[in-house]
Parts: sequence; structure tokens; C-alpha cells
Amino acid sequence: MSDCLFCKIIKGEIPSQVVYENEAVMIFKDIAPVAPTHWLAIPKSHIDNIYDPRLVDGELLQSIFAAIQHVSEAEGLSENGFRVIVNYGNDAGEAVPHLHFHLIAGRKLNWPPG
Ligand code: AMP
Ligand code: ZN
Repeated sequence: MSDCLFCKIIKGEIPSQVVYENEAVMIFKDIAPVAPTHWLAIPKSHIDNIYDPRLVDGELLQSIFAAIQHVSEAEGLSENGFRVIVNYGNDAGEAVPHLHFHLIAGRKLNWPPG
């Protein structure tokens, strides 16, 4: 989508610090990290949110979690643990309407979340 922030990051129109990418998925550093490690895993095709039918009909979700599995192991996050979060809607504070999974690690994370 031409006016989507994360689509612009995928196209390289807005700079980002890429941690991992393949043909379907990109994982890059969040610009305002809430922990020592804070990355965003996104599909390269524009998906608005978790209600998009392509998430349950196709292989996209598998690709996203394969990338999360790979990069969290490769970068050592799995040793102490990490959190994967999707914010949906106003109450969750969703700000960017391109599906993204937050990967947060590197400190003790409170539960329940704020
Ligand atoms: P959410 O509130 O779940 O929609 O999360 C959106 C996330 O995108 C926030 O954690 C922002 O800090 C992050 N963000 C916004 N703009 C950028 C950017 N240009 N590069 C990297 N992360 C960004
Ligand atoms: Zn997009």
C-alpha cells in the first residue's frame, strides 16, 4: 500500500535496521525500543491486521513464525526468553495498520502487561 509506513520500509523508502529478511518476511528494529531488544516481524505483502483471511488460508503465518523461530534462535533470544505481541485496535494501542509482531527481549518483562 503506497501510503503505508511499513510498506515504505519494505521498499527501502524509509530507512530501517534489518535483522532478518526473506522473500515473505522482514524483521527490523523498532525505532522506539521498550527493551534492549525490540524488533518487528512483518509480512512483506501488505496485511492490515489479524483478521485478514490470508493469515488463515495460506502459508503466510507459517512463514512469519518460521522467521521468528529462526531469528530468535540465531540471535540468542531463546536462551532467556522473549515475548511476541500483536496489538490490535485502540485499547491495545495499535498505531501502524500493517500487521506486525513485536519481539521483545533482554530484560525481565512484567506480567500482566500494562
Ligand atoms: P503498534 O503500536 O503495535 O502499532 O506498534 C507500532 C510500532 O512501530 C511502535 O513500536 C513504533 O515504535 C514502531 N515504529 C514506528 N515507526 C517506525 C519506524 N520508522 N521504524 C521502526 N519502527 C517504527
Ligand atoms: Zn503496508
